Amino acid sequence: LHWNITLAWGYQTGAGRHPERAAIIDDDGVLTYAEVDERTSRLAHAFRAGERIGLLCRNHRGFIETLTACTKIGADAVLLNTGLSQGQLAQVAQDQEIDRFVADREFADLLPDRPVIFTDGLESLVLNGPDKPLPRRPPRGRLIILTSGTTGTPKGARRPEPASLAPAAALLSRIPLKHGDVISITSPLFHAWGLAAFQLGLVLGATLVLRRRFDPEQALRDAEQCTAMFVVPVMLQRMLETPLRPKLRIIASSGSSLPPKVATRTLEEFGPVLYNLYGSTEVSWASIATPEEMIQDPGTAGTPPLGTRLAIVDDAGKPVAPGETGRIFVGNEMLFDGYTNGTSKESLDGLMATGDLGYLRNGLLFVAGRDDEMIVSGGENVYPREVEDLLSQLDGVTEVAVLGVEDEQFGQRLVAYMVGDESLTADQVRDHVKANLARFSVPRDVFFVNELPRNAAGKVLKRQLRENG
Ligand code: ATP
Repeated sequence: LHWNITLAWGYQTGAGRHPERAAIIDDDGVLTYAEVDERTSRLAHAFRAGERIGLLCRNHRGFIETLTACTKIGADAVLLNTGLSQGQLAQVAQDQEIDRFVADREFADLLPDRPVIFTDGLESLVLNGPDKPLPRRPPRGRLIILTSGTTGTPKGARRPEPASLAPAAALLSRIPLKHGDVISITSPLFHAWGLAAFQLGLVLGATLVLRRRFDPEQALRDAEQCTAMFVVPVMLQRMLETPLRPKLRIIASSGSSLPPKVATRTLEEFGPVLYNLYGSTEVSWASIATPEEMIQDPGTAGTPPLGTRLAIVDDAGKPVAPGETGRIFVGNEMLFDGYTNGTSKESLDGLMATGDLGYLRNGLLFVAGRDDEMIVSGGENVYPREVEDLLSQLDGVTEVAVLGVEDEQFGQRLVAYMVGDESLTADQVRDHVKANLARFSVPRDVFFVNELPRNAAGKVLKRQLRENG
């Protein structure tokens, strides 16, 4: 099953089996499986086999219909992050050889000078699209998603071509989604996590609930009609600040680390329904924590799902002893096919580097953070995640980022950026770390800020903090 066949197949079989079931609910209303299938067959004629479409869209039917139409005709799709700047979009358009854009009009001023179809014009392409047959076996289009660009310019990652439904089976072995679920996808669809939710939902004949913009209260009101919700941690955190607590079977979080305090509150207030997937654009997934595992230890990223292998190794590639921190490598059916610039991630015995450090405790995985974020201060290794998790437990603290900056005396020194209660002082912050962690983990500088810079998938942009202070 190539991804494009999967999408086309998903709506075609859905239209055959449950034509009247709602496939998409968005700000513009409801579309059934039969409607999405028919509409995307008409829309497909607006695209050409082999052309490369840059999709710059918020979460709505236009995103899903464009992607599905591309698959039906055999066009490539590059999923673009809605947080990209004008300069980054120009760079990505050139690097990824984008022929045309399909974009929401709000991004018009940011687009490079290439042909564009605005999503508010898709409806007329659907309505006026010819009702003529599509190629039975369209050429295989490619799906390219961009990495978040946390560590530099966003890189294009080629999605693999799953040869079976094994990827879906792996995720479903731990996250108990089922046929006919109603899934609210609050995370952006252009990101690997939102895309996974969409693809899984489609395989299961689910109803997908999408909103152009994330609003915590609206999301929780939507959730009252849903059985499952896909989020990134910062969204979950914002939802916890509002009062509604709908009954859900599944809240699935990924995209960045889930602060233990957020995990605990979610489990207490929504019940044992929280799942935490640790993965990346490149490796798709490495592990998933179930509610039971997070009740046992809220900081855990869980265990590898069906068919997934994990190794934690030292710099020489030798497995470390349990409890020791090392580099995380993973093997599964959905490791990516390399970056579009021809490079890839390091591999070891068929496993791929995640770029993260972590350790195992009682059989559970803990992610200590990205290996390039490790701080060496006075010759000692400090994992910022450990300090961040500790500080986020302080009363009144809502967000924390810890990073290393150059220091003449120590090589690097720790700096903490904190969002929260104004009564908190830098000395209290330092004392709290001193009381709980080693001396070299104490941030020398503590800055209180109104908010942390984040990308569209909710990840803190540490590079920006470092550059702008
Ligand atoms: P770039 O490669 O451009 O810098 P990025 O790596 O931030 O971007 P993603 O692929 O979205 O882009 O992020 C994956 C990374 O996010 C993982 O390698 C890991 O560091 C972190 N991450 C994701 N989910 C979790 C999780 N559940 N727990 C801990 N860390 C996570």
